[in-house]
Amino acid sequence: MNLLNLTAVELGKKIRAGEVTSMDAVRQVFERIKARESSVHAYVTLDEEGAFRRAEQVQRQIEAGELTGPLAGVPAALKDNLCTRGMRTSCGSRILENFVPFYTAEAVCRLEAAGAVILGKTNMDEFAMGSTTETSAFGATRNPWNLEHVPGGSSGGSCAAVAAGECFYALGSDTGGSIRQPSAFCGVTGLKPTYGTVSRYGLVAYGSSLDQIGPVAKDVADCAAVLEAIASYDRKDSTSIKREDTDFTGALIDDVRGMRIGVPADYFGDGLNKEVKAAIFAALEVLQAKGAVVEEFDLPLMKYAVPAYYIIASAEASSNLARFDGVKYGFRAKEYDGLHDMYKKSRSQGFGPEVKRRLMLGSFVLSSGYYDAYYQKALKTKALIKEAFEQAFARYDLIAAPAAPFTAPKLGESLKDPLQMYLGDVYTVSANLAGLPALSVPCGVDSEGLPIGMQLIGGHFQEKKLLRAGFSYQQSRRYQGPEASADEAGKERSAYE
Ligand code: GLN
Repeated sequence: MNLLNLTAVELGKKIRAGEVTSMDAVRQVFERIKARESSVHAYVTLDEEGAFRRAEQVQRQIEAGELTGPLAGVPAALKDNLCTRGMRTSCGSRILENFVPFYTAEAVCRLEAAGAVILGKTNMDEFAMGSTTETSAFGATRNPWNLEHVPGGSSGGSCAAVAAGECFYALGSDTGGSIRQPSAFCGVTGLKPTYGTVSRYGLVAYGSSLDQIGPVAKDVADCAAVLEAIASYDRKDSTSIKREDTDFTGALIDDVRGMRIGVPADYFGDGLNKEVKAAIFAALEVLQAKGAVVEEFDLPLMKYAVPAYYIIASAEASSNLARFDGVKYGFRAKEYDGLHDMYKKSRSQGFGPEVKRRLMLGSFVLSSGYYDAYYQKALKTKALIKEAFEQAFARYDLIAAPAAPFTAPKLGESLKDPLQMYLGDVYTVSANLAGLPALSVPCGVDSEGLPIGMQLIGGHFQEKKLLRAGFSYQQSRRYQGPEASADEAGKERSAYE
């Protein structure tokens, strides 16, 4: 039986029913990895031996009735900024090339408690700074739908791995869109939870006030199951929130009748690719036909979101990344002249150009004399954006938007003009600034066969509404990845059947 076309939840069911074993799944997934990795490069670290050992252990626990959850025995991948005890955690950076953590991120511990089998660590933009996975010190990941294109970023490795069938689901992190945008580019489903829902303990920090860990999977039902496993209150993360409503799989109901969906008119203006626009409107029509009320409205301040985000994220990064100094972690320059020179050379040689650009920008906006003009102003803008969303959610259950203004660019096109690349984050960064949950679901492909994603944004703690709408939309649209369509040569490619 070919297991690779199953969703995570479907596979889990078959394992629990005794139809297949976790080892069968690991075997098939490693066959796929061996066939595809040399062209896709979704992973930076693979642990085949460990995965088989773990699958055997989990299989025994399932058979003994000790593991009964939906994800028990299902192979998964982790973005390489999630600390894993005994397994290298590089963050896509030379400075952490040989860093082996002595503890595991809380979200990963939760997954393991749910019976996950970890396959390895996925490629990412260095320290999650980027939109293409090209800033990784270990080389770019390619989009499984078309190898000449990027998978998006920064969780491009996780999203490409899911799309290529090189894992059943993955964890990513989202500071300004890094789960949703690559999910859209790779034709998979990704969810950024409300800030504070998933513990950030053990997630290498980029912009701490914006970072959230979330699932990347083949469909909404899988995302709900993964989120249910990883959402937890954690005393080790001071921004962790105690939530009582984390039974997310209970929200998978095919009913959107009366649901009010607001469409910000500004999000669909000139800067948006026409095919992307058409695909999202077609998706909204599906929801409308199922009884949702779709209405255009004006969401103000959109043009300030990208500048505010890049000031705040860079400022926080410049402080967070100060710890990588050649003393405490990872890489240290070979030759230097005294302590100061050691810091300078280790950081100059250890960080790549995009990270350096952000650290300089961040240090600048925090420096005396500029703090008020930039950082303080960005914080005020962030507060206003949050307020604008709160007003919108007084009227709407959800907001619909593109995940990105275009489909996946070609490799090598984006880094030439970083400012232009930053502008591509226009639809995703606001949800992080306001701490809101947001979901990206595939809604078709463009004329080149590249996937398009629709983003749904919810009010604080409204993941269930997002999941319900996404689940309802996906009812008649079973996930179909690039592999499935490549198998049936000649057939038109589609992110859905
Ligand atoms: N593309 C955005 C950035 O470069 C978002 C990255 C992220 O969410 N980690 O900052």
